[in-house]
Amino acid sequence: MSGAPPAAPLVLSAPSGAGKTTLANLLRSRNPDVVFSVSATTRPPRPYEVDGKHYHFVDRAGFERMRDAGELIEWAEVHGNGYGTPLENVRRAQAAGQHLLLDIDVQGARQIRARLPDALLVFVLPPSGAALVERLQERGTEDAEVLHRRLRNAEEEIRAAPEFDYLVVNDRLERAAGDLERILRGEGEDLRASDALDERIAGICAEIDARLDPPPVAGGQATGAMTAEPPPRFRI
Ligand code: ADP
Ligand code: 5GP
Repeated sequence: MSGAPPAAPLVLSAPSGAGKTTLANLLRSRNPDVVFSVSATTRPPRPYEVDGKHYHFVDRAGFERMRDAGELIEWAEVHGNGYGTPLENVRRAQAAGQHLLLDIDVQGARQIRARLPDALLVFVLPPSGAALVERLQERGTEDAEVLHRRLRNAEEEIRAAPEFDYLVVNDRLERAAGDLERILRGEGEDLRASDALDERIAGICAEIDARLDPPPVAGGQATGAMTAEPPPRFRI
């Protein structure tokens, strides 16, 4: 058999800010056989987010109830919040013959690999560490502390990229969306064998490091700080 099985689930993982939500929206708008998996999360909604459309926003008790009742096919703690995929999403997409598009983190992707072996696992890389930092800052949805945490976590996520079936570099949106469409149709090119992958990953991580200040000193005494103002967290 060649190509992807019909209506295989498509998992998109990426460090925060790489552009997977933007890509997922584009892909879905152009492909009626793609349906977005609405996750449950304990994260508070961003101003533009709509309950039931972007996420099912639940409190911690509600999340734990869903998890303990086996209603989540996968779940993880990400950046300090609970996130999980309702099993119902998978059932509904399967019944409708649609590709379920899951925008989930690396821990969730590993669980989906184990539970849905026909799923296509795609890792979205930013073109550079600098671009990732800039995109996250420009999006402007996180305060400095949360942004810092997301960038710290980004490195760990990026290092998991070789575990995925496919890699897509989100340099230009159109090109990256085209790559995703080919993967969906079973015509994607497996880039894991690329010699340059390890170097690219190391380069992105080094650039993120270079943009992050050293971690705060215990006790709140930042060495060398001359003013009462907190030091800027990012060197941009
Ligand atoms: P994620 O879902 O991975 O956290 P988003 O889709 O929210 O990331 O994208 C982060 C920011 O980067 C957004 O402001 C988005 O408009 C921008 N962005 C996404 N893709 C690109 C791209 N190819 N080129 C430039 N900016 C992009
Ligand atoms: P955000 O808060 O920016 O919407 O998402 C933060 C991270 O959580 C992203 O990496 C996103 O892919 C991931 N995420 C969103 N929904 C789920 C989910 O249902 N399960 C898991 N494991 N991760 C999720």
